[in-house]
Amino acid sequence: MMRIILLGAAAGGGLPQWNCGCVNCNAARAGRIPPMSQSSVAVSADGENWAVLNASPDIRYQLAATPALHPVGPRQMPLRSVLLTNGDIDHVAGLLTLRESRPFALYATAAIHEALADNPMLAAVRSDLVPRHVVALDQTIQLAPGLSATLFAVPGKVPLYQEGEVVETGLVGETTVGVELRAKGRRALYIPGCADMPDWLKSRIDGADLLMFDGTLWEDDEMIRMGLGQKTGRRMGHMPVVQTIRDLSGLDIGRRVFVHMNNSNPQTDPASPQAAEAETQGWQIGHDGMEITL
Ligand SMILES: [Zn+2]
Ligand SMILES: [Zn+2]
Repeated sequence: MMRIILLGAAAGGGLPQWNCGCVNCNAARAGRIPPMSQSSVAVSADGENWAVLNASPDIRYQLAATPALHPVGPRQMPLRSVLLTNGDIDHVAGLLTLRESRPFALYATAAIHEALADNPMLAAVRSDLVPRHVVALDQTIQLAPGLSATLFAVPGKVPLYQEGEVVETGLVGETTVGVELRAKGRRALYIPGCADMPDWLKSRIDGADLLMFDGTLWEDDEMIRMGLGQKTGRRMGHMPVVQTIRDLSGLDIGRRVFVHMNNSNPQTDPASPQAAEAETQGWQIGHDGMEITL
């Protein structure tokens, strides 16, 4: 068995985002569509020991809302490890919330650990209690009993706070990774950020029992058209959903779930034609608290 709980299904900023007055954010504030917290996933092979993939700024609330991750004793937690897929603020800032002197293992590539080490505030997450394990690409690690993970590079970019004058958005290396999870013969992939879909990545995805994939934007220029920003999705390191649906249509995948959805993405409204279109094409729209058992 592999148990997966989407702790948060939104991209950075969440839904609603504090400074955003777009149609979806206003609908979420008014209670017309469900709000979503920032991207994070909990995984377990036994239901008792859990790994969390990406620690979002919403993790305090996410853990409180998820009984499987509640303390089982005065200071005993089911959380065994946290794995980071990149150094973006929406994936690492939650580590500050997890600083209260409880042990767990922290896994990331060397490049992501370097980004953390550059931030003195993160020293509050004491490395004697939270050892920093450097994971090489394609190395398999044990996140929790019976649950293994392998990191692989996907096209992406460095975190926004590390961007220089020129930004390479098709960077394939240690800055943005996908996670291949295995438990009891089941294989699940978690890829919350991905800028493109080369053939080698399709091959990796093919045959998976579950794919949780970057659903940041519906269309590449959606934020520009909505007056919400100047960047395309690809410039932010995210390929658009319309391309993902097309590129992966011929693959053999047990379940396809969109995660990491920006509040501008029309498919976050369950009644939208875009949500219906994604579902027609075999995709599910992730939501906070969504549980998947493989
Ligand atoms: Zn993100
Ligand atoms: Zn918005």
